[in-house]
Amino acid sequence: MNIAEYKGVFVFAQQVDNELSGIALELVGKGKELAKDLGTEVTAVLVGSGVKALADELAAYGADKVILVDDPELKEYRTEPYTHALASVIEKYKPEIFLVGATAIGRDLGPRVSARVHTGLTADCTRLEIGDFPINPIPGREQLHNQLLMTRPAFGGNTIATIACPEFRPQMATVRPGVMQKARKDENAKAVIEEFNPGFTPNNNYVEILDIVKAVAETEDIMDAKILVSGGRGVCSAENFKMLEDLADVLGATVSCSRAAVDSGWKPKDLQVGQTGKTVRPNLYFAIGISGAIQHLAGMEESDVIIAINKDETAPIFDVADYGIVGDLNKIVPALTERLKAE
Ligand code: FAD
Repeated sequence: MNIAEYKGVFVFAQQVDNELSGIALELVGKGKELAKDLGTEVTAVLVGSGVKALADELAAYGADKVILVDDPELKEYRTEPYTHALASVIEKYKPEIFLVGATAIGRDLGPRVSARVHTGLTADCTRLEIGDFPINPIPGREQLHNQLLMTRPAFGGNTIATIACPEFRPQMATVRPGVMQKARKDENAKAVIEEFNPGFTPNNNYVEILDIVKAVAETEDIMDAKILVSGGRGVCSAENFKMLEDLADVLGATVSCSRAAVDSGWKPKDLQVGQTGKTVRPNLYFAIGISGAIQHLAGMEESDVIIAINKDETAPIFDVADYGIVGDLNKIVPALTERLKAE
């Protein structure tokens, strides 16, 4: 592999039902920053059937170029044709960096593609930057410049590992949704659109989709919420979450929770914030009866304003909170709700 041949930052622009996923725009935003540091361009790879119209949105969020792989075989996500599409794009265009969202689709697709093109992949990254590798010079070992430094939590969040892939290209990562920032939208921005046909053979034995049953969400996705009222083990029961729901109603907020609340069966997993849940970045985050374990903080510490309610004044959540209330949540939460109702 001649790694000098590999140029440019490519991102997989995930779409579902011909709508771009949030992660697609987050990756374009991050890709643009990395491309700037490398003096190159960011290219979005748009894969699907009848998805050409989405290229304009990718351009508006900063893509310099869109490679469009449009084929009826790609209507719904299936591992084999999508792997073939992305691996073919990599083999033809030879990108230096290739990013995929760490969504259910990306976690399936990213490792397959990296294996197909014989490179490495760092999964579930929470930080990406261009830098030197090894980060600290080691006597007798060459320090390589302009490497993609991929950072992710490891050992259950107890350590943060920064990983590089100096000998293979592209440098591939899956990136945790909600962590990277979208770029500001510019409706007038235009991207070069290039259509690419990887060629699909008939009678290919791909998995056949017989039916799709969509999950019906009862509440707003916590990743989209502007205000989150989050409860932990201190809430003590599923019934007690009613208190948090009442507060959320007054604030126009959405209820979320810690893993302890999910493990106790009080709330469903899709409301879990944290390392093995979702990463959220609301304007306002209430942490109620949540101690502030590192795995929980990993999912919410980027919130604009954090208010913690906890009876233990030494709870680590107070280290990241902008405002803290020490006391029993059973008294404080209803009182706060009543006060807000009265305003
Ligand atoms: P606790 O740590 O038990 O804290 C409860 C808090 O409630 C305490 O601080 C207590 O003082 C307070 N409290 C109790 N009663 C009251 C009251 N009446 N009034 C006020 N305060 C009260 N956790 C996550 O949240 N998200 C994750 O994604 C996640 N991923 C993980 C991944 C791995 C690999 C591992 C090992 C762990 C993970 N965890 C995750 C678990 C994490 O380590 C903690 O165990 C968990 O976050 C604790 O949840 P909690 O704060 O609700 O409970």
